[in-house]
Amino acid sequence: MTRRNSAGRFATKRTPPEDLEFRCPDCPYCLTETGTDGDSFVCYECEASWSMDGRRGRWSDPDELACPSAIKPFDRDGLSPEHESIRHVVERCLLADDHGGKHKAADYYQTWDDDDPRITKETK
Ligand SMILES: [Zn+2]
Ligand SMILES: [Zn+2]
Repeated sequence: MTRRNSAGRFATKRTPPEDLEFRCPDCPYCLTETGTDGDSFVCYECEASWSMDGRRGRWSDPDELACPSAIKPFDRDGLSPEHESIRHVVERCLLADDHGGKHKAADYYQTWDDDDPRITKETK
């Protein structure tokens, strides 16, 4: 429909906004959008899935053992006194035992190799 605007010129109604696109929740480990098969949310990269309410997370192979590797990412010289309380924080590897490549913490950005000096002695 065309009508005159406040300046006296003919103008048309604004076109309606585009439809919204519904997104799946992001995977907490790789931070990419999960997919869905209608019954669950799935991260194919991390081989994990969750119920449609976002709970009851499970690995694609529930019988896999956990990789035993763990690091203390903040245990280093030069840690400032105000951060001393996090020196003994331990990050465990999120992946399954005998995985290839680097170990990976659940915090997404932390990875390490088998010769990393931050590996805790208990897991060497
Ligand atoms: Zn993921
Ligand atoms: Zn690992």
